[in-house]
Amino acid sequence: MSGLSITQYFPFMRMKIESQAVHHDTRRSALIRLTPDQRYRPLCHNCGAVATTVHSRGHRRYLRDLNLACHQVWLEVGYRKIWCAECNGVRVEQLSFADASKRVTHRLAQHIHDLCKFMTVKDVADHLDLDPKTVKAIDKAFLEKKFGETAATELRVLAIDEIAVRKGHTYMTVIMDYFSGRIVWMGPDRRMETLDAFFAELSDTQKQGIEAVAMDMWEAFINRVRHHCPQAHIVFDFFHVVQAFGKVIDSVRRDEYRNASAHDRNVLKGSRYLLLKNTENLTDDQANRLADVLALNETLSILYVLKDQLKLVFRYSDRGKVKRTLDSWCRMAETIDHPDVQRFVGRLRCFEYGILNHADYPISTSELEGANNKIKVIKRKAYGFHDTKYFVLKVKQAFAA
Ligand SMILES: [Zn+2]
Repeated sequence: MSGLSITQYFPFMRMKIESQAVHHDTRRSALIRLTPDQRYRPLCHNCGAVATTVHSRGHRRYLRDLNLACHQVWLEVGYRKIWCAECNGVRVEQLSFADASKRVTHRLAQHIHDLCKFMTVKDVADHLDLDPKTVKAIDKAFLEKKFGETAATELRVLAIDEIAVRKGHTYMTVIMDYFSGRIVWMGPDRRMETLDAFFAELSDTQKQGIEAVAMDMWEAFINRVRHHCPQAHIVFDFFHVVQAFGKVIDSVRRDEYRNASAHDRNVLKGSRYLLLKNTENLTDDQANRLADVLALNETLSILYVLKDQLKLVFRYSDRGKVKRTLDSWCRMAETIDHPDVQRFVGRLRCFEYGILNHADYPISTSELEGANNKIKVIKRKAYGFHDTKYFVLKVKQAFAA
């Protein structure tokens, strides 16, 4: 008889391998039969207590394990039912390598979770020949354990953002710990109730520890941050303000196009990208086309200058300088007779405090923009559309250190 043994591949405690059957047909598989090692007393799967009485033997269940070479491995596991004095009832004995209710071993579950970090659920399911629902449930259970609870300790500076989760207007609010880059919390919508739900998970001490909150000029958020953390400085960050002004430019561009002559329309056509993109990222050809647009249309030309000037406001760390730059910016913008521009200036004047606060809390835009883009990528992998909770967990995982 050969001295070779497969037992080393199955270092399961309190179990004995009885036999193996290897099938070489199209779906290559191996069936390993295991039975409890009778030298050990069974443990209760529910409470872990050592059982004194075996209730019945000869029960069998089938579990998927890690593949071995090219073979899908199935375990046929014999187990006992016990009388547990602690639980005061009949219970299934505990296996060291799988949960009583699961159809895969611990080590296969871990492998699935590892793969899901880099692959979509569908790809993992195809790769291992498993049901996508099973794959997702396993990954989700791991993530729940790690990221299910809101970890809100030592929060000092928060960044609040919203992302559109569906075409149209379904939003989710994302709260980030600015210094660690960790996503602390995500919740549906971007209403007052949204932030109330977040703050409800924080203790008073945790709320009082928050020094500054970066966000969009969005009344619902401002209102709730003031209510829950009156000491916190509200900061309007560069990313959101410039993004909002980009929308104003675009709306003016559409109106200008509508009112233009056929010749002018030709010049203005496709100028959206040229106007909103950073100048240094344009090709020579694009830069020439932009020059034509700006030469043709005075309003767009002023808005284009204003776009660059607005960025200056966020460069200064001196509140006085920020205030002066912002004032002169608003005066220049007010010369443009368009309701969207006027409304935007009105908002900037009204929310001036949050732009001045940026001088003291210079929240880096690249962090927020980067996070926003990273979440969009996760969303595109279609984790989240049908299961928001799973999507949130995946986002938290992607941002964890
Ligand atoms: Zn028990």
